[in-house]
Parts: sequence; structure tokens; C-alpha cells
Amino acid sequence: MIVMKFGGTSVMDPMAIDRTAHIVKGRLSRRPVVVVSAMSRVTDALLAAGKAAGEGHRAQALGLAHDLRLRHQETARALVDAAQYPRLRDELEHEFDTLDELLKGIVAVGELSPRSSDYVVSYGERLNSRVVTEAYLARGIRAALVDARQVMITDAQHGRAIPQAEEIEHRAKNLVRPLLEDGQVPIMGGFIGATAQGVQTTIGRGGSDFSAALVGSGLDAEAIEIWTDVDGMMTTDPRICPDARRIRVISFEEAAELAYFGAKVLHPATVLPAVQKDIPVFVLNSLNPANEGTLIVGHAPRSRSTFKAIAAKKRITIVEVVAARMLGAHGFLKAIFDIFDKHHCSIDVVSTSEVSVSLTVDSNEAIPAIAADLEKIADVKYAGRNAIVCLVGENIRETPQIAARVFSALGEINVRMISQGASEINITFVISEDDVPEALRRLHRAFFTEVDPEVFDLPGGATVH
Ligand code: ADP
Ligand code: ASP
Ligand code: MG
Repeated sequence: MIVMKFGGTSVMDPMAIDRTAHIVKGRLSRRPVVVVSAMSRVTDALLAAGKAAGEGHRAQALGLAHDLRLRHQETARALVDAAQYPRLRDELEHEFDTLDELLKGIVAVGELSPRSSDYVVSYGERLNSRVVTEAYLARGIRAALVDARQVMITDAQHGRAIPQAEEIEHRAKNLVRPLLEDGQVPIMGGFIGATAQGVQTTIGRGGSDFSAALVGSGLDAEAIEIWTDVDGMMTTDPRICPDARRIRVISFEEAAELAYFGAKVLHPATVLPAVQKDIPVFVLNSLNPANEGTLIVGHAPRSRSTFKAIAAKKRITIVEVVAARMLGAHGFLKAIFDIFDKHHCSIDVVSTSEVSVSLTVDSNEAIPAIAADLEKIADVKYAGRNAIVCLVGENIRETPQIAARVFSALGEINVRMISQGASEINITFVISEDDVPEALRRLHRAFFTEVDPEVFDLPGGATVH
């Protein structure tokens, strides 16, 4: 069997959903399980509705829910036949009524708890998996809706719940496999789950990729296909650098580094469950299904190019802790890290000097509180609007003077922090957010103008066979 995951852009409207039905039909002999995201931008809208409700903005919250109601109803109507529609319409109406009640309840309580936020957000995947199931049935696919909350069992950390792989495997074998054996096509929402007690959770933004990988690993899939709106993993974000080329093959380790450092195309954790079972992962384009996409494998073949790709992660804050006398002192770094830990804030890049420690964190509301705690032991400065840029490639290990070449390609762009070597397959540095487009274009020009055709597409998307 295979897992086919369709991201938000691949199911954004009736035409897109119809396209996915054709893609699934073409793979029925491989016994697909389909994992779908919410339609694009729906998760953002639900989060905004929950936030508005929590702040007491009732009309705004209900207005956002109303827009989503219309969008889902219009999508459903366009996809199913007239006889099938009334039942689906009534089901959607019922679900949206419960969403309205939930939002009114949040307004009444005057607070959005992480638990209710997960509940609100879960509507995106729950409703879309229902619409997609009906659309597939209308197109002759024996689709069967599976409630993701019965399969994706997680802990109770709302917003970032940790999936329990063993339990998921057990549930997938009991609930999903029998459908496959019966020749049906199971459809489930990604991203959402529930605790063993049945409380709804979500597994982090972009988490549908992770859901797909967990189900695929639980069922020993032959392949996991991540369908999105670009031709695969590219040498850099194609929205910033139109010259970006498709990467034909990439290793798990390289893909994970890239995903972690901002290549939004793949959720960072996706690759883990697949690596553990040696299941190949493909990134494919639902707008261009004939393209062979990117294959992610345990060990990528040797390539003549130093780098596979460049990623950038924006919204980074640099925190600088200055404590001239304390820095060498035993336990000082631990005290700093403990403060970040207390605020559940993870650190990406660290560099130390004689008098200071600089750290980068994703910008978030906790930073002033962290700074206040740090000020008890040292002087603290922090600055937002930075970005981490990361060049990834297994060949970095063996390439001399690579850092010098990278920094000379950047020219006069000011580099604020540098880190190389932690994983041996990346060079990472921090620059101002405003410099990201120029930095990516310069690096891309320097390192991807001449590349190994075994590993990358030629310009214009041509492929060497
Ligand atoms: P989905 O809705 O399918 O989950 P995402 O928006 O999460 O899609 O990811 C796809 C997007 O990731 C692409 O449209 C592209 O703009 C962006 N992206 C960023 N970096 C890369 C990269 N290196 N390769 C491919 N896409 C990238
Ligand atoms: N719908 C969720 C999000 O927007 C999960 C996903 O798309 O993977 O984050
Ligand atoms: Mg995604």
C-alpha cells in the first residue's frame, strides 16, 4: 500500500479536489490511503476565529466561521451530484452550527485555552476529509472516511501534541488496514489527533505530512507521497528565487535539515518515521502529476555538487546575553538554557564569545518574559526580524574552504552569527530578514549555476534521463 497526502493548496477548491481524485484513481492498484489537509488558508482562519472569540470579538469570530461555512458548502455543491448534495449539506451545516456554539462558548468564558483552540482548529481537516470523501465517491472511488482522532493518538500538549507511534500503528492496523483489504480507499484528515482519552489535539503547523508518515510507517507502506503545489523539493524557495531547480534525489538527513531550517515544503518530523522503516518519500506536484518529483531516500547517491539546497527561516530573534565575569563560570550556560526551557522555547543557533552568548529563537510572545528572567543573572539584549539561512549538502564534509566561498558570495550582506559543523552537512548563519531575498539569489547564483544533472533538473524544468 501507499500513502498519498494532499496539502492545503492541492485541495484548495473544487477543481483542485477533482484533480486529486484523478491522481488517486491512477494509483488504485497500489492501494492508497489518502491523508488530506484543510483547504488552504482554512487553518489560519480558524486560528483567527478562535483568537477573536478569546478576546471577546464575537461578531468577528462568527463572521470568519460564516465565510468558512460558505466556502465549504460551495465546494461541496460543486463536487457532488444533486442527489448526494442535501445530505452532505446538512452534515456540514450541523458541523458549522457546533463550531458557532463553540466560538460563542469561548466568547462567554472570555479565554481561549490551548485545548479549545485545538478543538476549533480541528474543523479544517475534519470537514475537508468529509468533503473529499464524498467527492471521491461521486467519482467512482470506493472512499471510506476514517476519523483521524481514532488513529492519531497523541499526548496532551495542545498545539504541538506528540504522536504515540506504537498506538498509532496499532490503530492503523485495526481501523485502516481492513478497509484496504476490502478494496476501499481510506481518507483521513492530517494534522489532528486525540489523546487516548479522546480529547482533540493537533500536532503542529504543517503537521499533515507527519500524519502521513506515521500512518505510512504504521502500515509498512511501500511509499509515502507528499503532494503539493511545486515540482518537489527545490534548491531554494521558488517564490523567492525563480531560478530554483528541482532536486531529483535527496537524503533523509539533508531533507530534515532543510525542513527544519525553513523549507516549508516538508514538515521537519515527517522523515523520521519513514527513515526508521526505510520507506521512500516522494514530494510531488498535484498541478503537474507527470513530473517525477523529489525522492527522499536513506542515502542519496554521491553527487558532484557541494550543496543540495538553501533554506531560510524568518521571524528569528537573536538574544544576546552579556556577562563578562560569569561566562566561564561553572553552570552559567546551564542557567541560561534552563530559563529558555522553563518557557518552552527551543534554541536553534548558539555562539559564545569571551564575554557573551548569542542564541536564536523563533520570535514569540514569551521573549520579553525570558529576557526578564535572564536579566536576573546577566545583561540582555534582543533583536527580532532576523533570519537563519542554511546551506545543506552531504558533500560539505569533504569540500575545503567552503565557508570562505559562501561568505564571499554574500558580498557586503551583514552576517550576524555563524555556525558550522554541528551536523557536518550544513552551514548556517543569521542575517537580517530584509536581506534574505538578495542573499538567497546570490548564493543560488554562486552554487547552483552549474550543477550535477544526475541530482538536479536542468534550467526550465528539463530532466536528464
Ligand atoms: P502544502 O499546502 O502542500 O502543505 P506548503 O505551503 O506547506 O504546501 O509547502 C509548499 C510550499 O513550500 C511551496 O509552494 C514553496 O513555495 C515552499 N517552499 C519553500 N522552500 C521550498 C523548497 N526548498 N522547495 C520547494 N518548495 C519550497
Ligand atoms: N492544515 C494544517 C496547517 O495549515 C496542517 C497542514 O496543512 O499540514 O498547518
Ligand atoms: Mg505543508
